[in-house]
Amino acid sequence: MTHTRSPAQEVAQLREQLNEYNYRYYVLDDPSVPDAEYDRQMRRLQQLEVDYPELLSDDSPTQRVGGQALAGFSQVKHELPMLSLDNAFSSDELQAFEKRLQDRLGSTSPIEFACEPKLDGIAVSLLYEDGVLVQGATRGDGSTGEDITANVRTIASIPLRLRGDRLPPLLEVRGEIYLPKAGFEALNERARAQGDKLFVNPRNAAAGSLRQLDPRITATRSLQMCCYSIGRVGGFELPSKHSDVLKLLNGWGLRINAEMAVVEGANACQSYYEQLAIKRPRLPYEIDGIVFKVNELGLQQRLGFVSKAPRWAIAYKFPAQEEMTRLLDVEFQVGRTGAVTPVARLDPVFVGGVTVSNATLHNMDEVARLDAQVGDTVVIRRAGDVIPQIVKVVLERRPHNARAIVLPRACPVCGSEVEREEGEAAARCSGGLFCGAQRKEAIKHFSSRKALDIEGLGDKLVEQLVDEQLIQTSADLFSLSLEQLCGLDRMGEKSAQNLLDALDKKRITTLPRFLYALGIREVGEATALSLARHFLTLEALQEASEEALLEVDDVGPIVAHHIQRFFRQAHNVEVLQALQARGVSWPAMEVNPDSRPLEGETWVLTGTLTSMGRPEGKSRLQALGAKVAGSVSAKTTVVVAGEKAGSKLTKAEQLQIPVLDESAFVARLAELEGQG
Ligand code: NAD
Repeated sequence: MTHTRSPAQEVAQLREQLNEYNYRYYVLDDPSVPDAEYDRQMRRLQQLEVDYPELLSDDSPTQRVGGQALAGFSQVKHELPMLSLDNAFSSDELQAFEKRLQDRLGSTSPIEFACEPKLDGIAVSLLYEDGVLVQGATRGDGSTGEDITANVRTIASIPLRLRGDRLPPLLEVRGEIYLPKAGFEALNERARAQGDKLFVNPRNAAAGSLRQLDPRITATRSLQMCCYSIGRVGGFELPSKHSDVLKLLNGWGLRINAEMAVVEGANACQSYYEQLAIKRPRLPYEIDGIVFKVNELGLQQRLGFVSKAPRWAIAYKFPAQEEMTRLLDVEFQVGRTGAVTPVARLDPVFVGGVTVSNATLHNMDEVARLDAQVGDTVVIRRAGDVIPQIVKVVLERRPHNARAIVLPRACPVCGSEVEREEGEAAARCSGGLFCGAQRKEAIKHFSSRKALDIEGLGDKLVEQLVDEQLIQTSADLFSLSLEQLCGLDRMGEKSAQNLLDALDKKRITTLPRFLYALGIREVGEATALSLARHFLTLEALQEASEEALLEVDDVGPIVAHHIQRFFRQAHNVEVLQALQARGVSWPAMEVNPDSRPLEGETWVLTGTLTSMGRPEGKSRLQALGAKVAGSVSAKTTVVVAGEKAGSKLTKAEQLQIPVLDESAFVARLAELEGQG
């Protein structure tokens, strides 16, 4: 049972909470809750103050601009206060805004508005004397801000001197300093790489970047400035409309927003808002709404101000891109390549225009960085089409029964061991051949051209066979029947028989192909060949110690570890046995004293090798003992010239070095590898 609070208690509580939020947001540049939550509480407080006017007080957060000047900066007094804006959250509220204006002005005709995107950054004032920048200041609490002159001087889009020869002797320009989306992403990318805390959104990043005591840090942050009004002006006659003032500023070399437009009436404002909402994801900067301002400066003067905002403007906010909700649980999903990913199950929340109930946590490093636990209240951000992200945990709201997020030891799909390599973010399931999540990929790889090369068994068909539950592992391919295949969609008897014939033919393979087909991590074709040559039998490889594995060319500790782990999984071994039981076999590898037939030779690859690519050609030659060099010299043994070979081929001909074209090269490789 919650006990009912009196309005006075609720008001006191809301004020305390909002003051705390303001402090985190404006002073520390590190908000604890998303704006949507702040706005809800602010609106509740406003409503209570309307319903119970006796509770209203001058120091209520509803009556004051929220900021505060940081002690490290010297202070600047704003001769003309820098105010905030009233908000609207719906088209009804927009209509009501125009109605209020009309009532005050005693008119019924539509009002002319200047429409500007509401940039999400930090409000600043720039002071120009005779066209020269002399001061930059933050808004602070509206009457006192911070002197950030040194910082604003590092921002390229702020002119140190205005253009033109008819300039006002005194000009105070106001606008927003913001961080474009690209700059925000780059900044967080750097922070992520260094293991630092990330900024939740571009606004906080801009505020944090600008309010640096060391302006050299500000200079690295790609901040931008956009001007939206004039504060004080001396010795100059301004135009009579706000939109013309902006154009004038633009002519003096100050940036204004290119989307600015002038419209008549609230309905036209609504359409402008809707158009910008569509454009929003494509804009290179973050906006959180549209500001509508009465365009006639004379009318603005008549309308005047309330406590902390002008009466003649309103910020019509877009639906929030950040919301908070509860992290109900974390499940681990296994991807088709075995990566085990933590996925957050959330109490469904409407954010960025959709209901979000899941969000990836990417990997265990991310879980640790966020310090997330099951039961936590988390902030979800969904900007544009970007997938929803958990951007922070509201630590103040952690319940006492919150539960740590632990990587499971066994794969949730197949029960095989889950392993996480040192230095790697992703954890992986090691049941490659058996795991249901990896089944399709494992079988596709098994039948691919460089593996068992089963003709007619394409990716689509593999998927169909798995979906119809006709096969679970690659071993099951070899017990498929004609009836089963003919029962599949779009499978005629002839193609079914062809597939069975192909499978039958490829039952006899080679040990290198077979090893490659197993899909052991980091065991490519060349390593498979080296392993086969070295160990000669599957059994010897299965039993090999780490030391024995490390004796093989191309096998380092990581590959050795993958190989051992693969064979340690009982499930994988069962599939190997089933394959052999169904007749998959290979001729014994000959014990060839010369298992490196190209030892001592130097080969050069040039041009394009269409059937394999140069890296593969290179590793196969190396597996046969050859050195592969980058340039042709008298010491070169053979040059392989693929398509469009150029100067190296000419040089080989000059030096009379034997040249193989691609098909001759492929044949020679097959011959040499077959000898192994
Ligand atoms: P605001 O951001 O709603 O609007 C006023 C500001 O809009 C101006 O100061 C100016 O900087 C900016 N602006 C951008 N484009 C403009 C344009 N074209 N013309 C005029 N102004 C423009 O008001 P605010 O007082 O700065 O901040 C209040 C808002 O901040 C709240 O609604 C809330 O969303 C957020 N906030 C959040 C927390 C939190 O804990 N998450 C705390 C405090 C405030």
